[in-house]
Amino acid sequence: MAPQQANRRGLLIILSSPSGAGKSTLAKRLRAWDSDIRFSVSATTRAPRPGEVNGQDYHFVSVEAFKHDVSNGDMLEHAHVFGNFYGSPKGPVQDAINAGQDVLFDIDWQGAQQITNSDLGKHTLSIFLLPPSITELRRRLEGRGQDDADTIGRRMEKSWDEISHWGSYDHVLINEDLDETEENLKTIIKATRLRRIQQPALIEHARNLQQEFEELQ
Ligand code: ADP
Ligand code: 5GP
Repeated sequence: MAPQQANRRGLLIILSSPSGAGKSTLAKRLRAWDSDIRFSVSATTRAPRPGEVNGQDYHFVSVEAFKHDVSNGDMLEHAHVFGNFYGSPKGPVQDAINAGQDVLFDIDWQGAQQITNSDLGKHTLSIFLLPPSITELRRRLEGRGQDDADTIGRRMEKSWDEISHWGSYDHVLINEDLDETEENLKTIIKATRLRRIQQPALIEHARNLQQEFEELQ
């Protein structure tokens, strides 16, 4: 096996954007592309939307349970978004990356910043999705047909707050053409998997090369 495929360390892939720019759609496509990519199922205190499955879309928890997990140190990051608490449970992420699997996070800028500044920051790839225009962002939120007018209004009001943090991400993609954005995301992920720090097996490979080199002298 080529060394870059052996004993790989998993990446923490963070996708952020204003609501409606395309995170969930692209996350689904990435997981269809590589079924080994794990999705970090966040805990949230918000109520489930129709069709959302507990344990799959989110872990829907009470405020008390959420605060308990935070004070126990069980959350990799957490934030207050749209009046509710959201957080990424730490355990499943550590297990996945130690097993060489990437973990995909659909989280806001506050969570992205906390993970990037954590011990796992060096294994993090952060990507921000921008909409082609604010008008198109609204069109997508309306077209998704998931939220009532009030909720869409609130999401639109918050959109600039999220967009204003685009500058602190490793990569920024304008999600105009969905297929093109998907291809660009795959390219970025493939390249980042090849970073030296993601390939602990390189040390052994280099040692073997050195040994072989010396034997041939
Ligand atoms: P988010 O998860 O960021 O809130 P979604 O993935 O739910 O956003 O996307 C919002 C809506 O926009 C969905 O109906 C989705 O099908 C649509 N959408 C996503 N990307 C594009 C794109 N590049 N062009 C047109 N529509 C898109
Ligand atoms: P929604 O309620 O629409 O599912 O999510 C609202 C916002 O919360 C989105 O911007 C989403 O990325 C963010 N979010 C979801 N889960 C988490 C999480 O675990 N941590 C943080 N910081 N943000 C999250």
